[in-house]
Amino acid sequence: MRFQILTLFPDMVANGLNTSVIGRAVEKGILQIDAVNIRDYTQDRHGRVDDYPYGGGAGMLMQAQPVFDAYRAATGGRKVRTVYVTPQGVPFTQKLAGELAQEEELLFLCGHYEGIDERVLEEIVTDYVSIGDYVLTGGELPAMVMVDAISRLVPGVLGNEISADTESFHNDLLEYPQYSRPEEWHGKRVPQVLLSGDHRAVEEWRLERSRERTRRIRPDLYERYERREWAIWRLSRQKRDTVHLLESLRRGRGEILLARGEFSRLEGSASQSSALLLYDRACSTCLLTASDEAGVERGIGEIPEVCRLAVASPGFAAEMLCGKAGFEILHECLQVCYTERRNLRVSHGDIRPLGPEHEAYVAERYGLGSRAYMAGRILAGAMYGAFVDGALAGFIGVHEDGSIGMLYVEERCRRQGIGASLEAYAINREREKGHIPYAHILVGNEGSLRLQEKLGLCLARQNIWWLAKKTCILEQSMIDS
Ligand code: SAM
Repeated sequence: MRFQILTLFPDMVANGLNTSVIGRAVEKGILQIDAVNIRDYTQDRHGRVDDYPYGGGAGMLMQAQPVFDAYRAATGGRKVRTVYVTPQGVPFTQKLAGELAQEEELLFLCGHYEGIDERVLEEIVTDYVSIGDYVLTGGELPAMVMVDAISRLVPGVLGNEISADTESFHNDLLEYPQYSRPEEWHGKRVPQVLLSGDHRAVEEWRLERSRERTRRIRPDLYERYERREWAIWRLSRQKRDTVHLLESLRRGRGEILLARGEFSRLEGSASQSSALLLYDRACSTCLLTASDEAGVERGIGEIPEVCRLAVASPGFAAEMLCGKAGFEILHECLQVCYTERRNLRVSHGDIRPLGPEHEAYVAERYGLGSRAYMAGRILAGAMYGAFVDGALAGFIGVHEDGSIGMLYVEERCRRQGIGASLEAYAINREREKGHIPYAHILVGNEGSLRLQEKLGLCLARQNIWWLAKKTCILEQSMIDS
């Protein structure tokens, strides 16, 4: 991911972001961070970039011309999402960090003095974002805060994918208290359960501490947490048909935009009409299910303008999204999930995660994903390859939306059980993460369906429909056959 930061103090930004985790990600080439000196673009003979505000008032204002020319040089005419960091912006949150982490490139504009001439902001800024209700002397620290928080959500930056999943704000809970050596310090002992080696008891203790803390310190978050837990409970009673929604919520990626009827803690099943609309941050996709047309209608009203992909079920919901919300159908899919409590046997011996050296191989053979998409999946540790005599014979992966797919086996290696082993391996990996493994199969792909049945996955009674906004060019298509 590339960040460009337009600033009057490039050294401050460059020095602030070249250490530790972010510095290492830059060295590895996962991130590119460039500080652009706005002063280099002024047309003033004395290098000035600021002037008095019209109408009087205290302080100076950054002028439009140098900011605009620096922006033009940085973007080279490309359309780049441009964030002006300002105390007048929307609050920066973990959720917004997740949304911005989906971009391939971001530009930050740092103000100084009393701010920036409004006219240039109107022309170049796409997002106004604040780091809190207080005023700093300049935008460099806010830009660094945002770059840091966004970067650690970019696949490969943290190295260990799990760590972002257990931290504060994940699942709307604050993190539990943590302890390190020694066991006793200042007369205070580490809670006994953490020394017990009983992983289940540790998990339960941590969840309870998280809940207690969140309820006490952040009742607003706790309310959201309870709302989600209710929806998860309802979905888990019909998981075959709604596993994509269930897993989006369970994995802490889905935000509830609408919950009606049985999906609402307050309404419950007393209401006739039910609907659930989620926005899955990890794949920027809306997931909608509804019991009737009224539910879909309400859901449509809540779909964010920026959302370009959607998954809908049942069929009338897909039709209504096409007729009333500007979507068109990409694929009708069967949904399968693996609900057994045991791992599957992997008969093929040499299956392992793929690395960046396999990017070209994978991109050339999997026709439905762009090179950047496949590279991102490899970086996220979500692509696995089967090797025969040291050479790659096939691969499988977990899509951004969480479904298993992208299965490919070399022609010469087919009918040897490699495809089944790859899928069994991916299923086992998903189970180890506590996920319910699931996949989407294009209607008509009988070979894939037979494989799923052979491995013991259960088939949903209801199909799902992948849709895209009509205006959207689906270069990042990630739907599997
Ligand atoms: N006069 C401006 C106002 O009242 O909104 C404040 C200007 S502030 C002194 C200078 C610059 O610092 C701003 O242009 C902005 O880029 C940055 N800044 C200050 N506080 C900020 C905050 N809480 N969040 C994001 N940026 C901030």
